[in-house]
Amino acid sequence: MFKALAFPLMLGFSLISQYARAEVAVTPIKVAEHCYYVQGEAGAASSANEGFMSNAGFVVTDAGVVVVDSLGTPVLAHKLVEAIRKVTDKPIKRVIVTHYHADHIYGLQVFKDMGVEIWAHNRGQEYLNSDAAEKLMQERREALFPWVDEKTRLVAADKWLGEETHFEMGGLHFELQHVGPAHAPDDMVMFVKEDSVLYAGDLIFIGRIPFVGDADSRSWLLAIDKVLTFKPKFMITGHGTASHTPVKDLEFTRDYLKYIRKVMGKAVADFVPFDEAYDKADWSQYAAMPAFNDANRENAYNTFLLMEKESLKRQ
Ligand SMILES: [Zn+2]
Repeated sequence: MFKALAFPLMLGFSLISQYARAEVAVTPIKVAEHCYYVQGEAGAASSANEGFMSNAGFVVTDAGVVVVDSLGTPVLAHKLVEAIRKVTDKPIKRVIVTHYHADHIYGLQVFKDMGVEIWAHNRGQEYLNSDAAEKLMQERREALFPWVDEKTRLVAADKWLGEETHFEMGGLHFELQHVGPAHAPDDMVMFVKEDSVLYAGDLIFIGRIPFVGDADSRSWLLAIDKVLTFKPKFMITGHGTASHTPVKDLEFTRDYLKYIRKVMGKAVADFVPFDEAYDKADWSQYAAMPAFNDANRENAYNTFLLMEKESLKRQ
């Protein structure tokens, strides 16, 4: 009896796990009355996760749906549309692009083909016109095949925006604020006033040491100050879980950037070599954070170089 039951159960289980491997689930998560997001998996884009390593959001109003970002492949964008359809049958009216990076824009063609209008900040055109964008598309056609293939294309916005844009839809008020160059030249955040939800793109990474890369930390700090003026209750970022303590999270990234600039700025001013300055610095308040070992030394080094450049400019 037990054996007879166990066999179909096991078969069912293995079919489910095979299905899970072949197709990632894109599931809507509700954050506030009108605001949702889908959460990508942790880690880099790969064939195994089908490129699902970034988040997208959507806001349901009485007059239609506003989508934030389109995920990293057209298949994922189709799944995003299906996820939206689980929540509402209102028409999808608009996609807001937080920044033109592959993991947030390779799904745009799905919305474009549905006749949905795409809005982005006008500095996104720099990405579209760059050789790097075409080169990365070629790379991803191999690395993310079959999810990214010959039919995947870069899609321009229908409307290129300036520094600040306000609009209303179905009684909800939306504020779009350009905050770049921070993570990207065209970084743009979207604040949904009635729900006090901020869609922040990749401006900050929650719960870990950020990757500073070659970003300009001075303008990044200005961007965080701009975003703090919204005083959001919830924040949905481009990667990871939504935050219920956005002000605290924004302040953490701000204070980290400030600290690293202070320490490296002093080293540059005193002509202390990088290695010595790094070893002498007190990192104790950050050492236990996720990504510290991967990111902190490189962040410090990039900041050291940046501070050198800034000091040369001042002379
Ligand atoms: Zn991203």
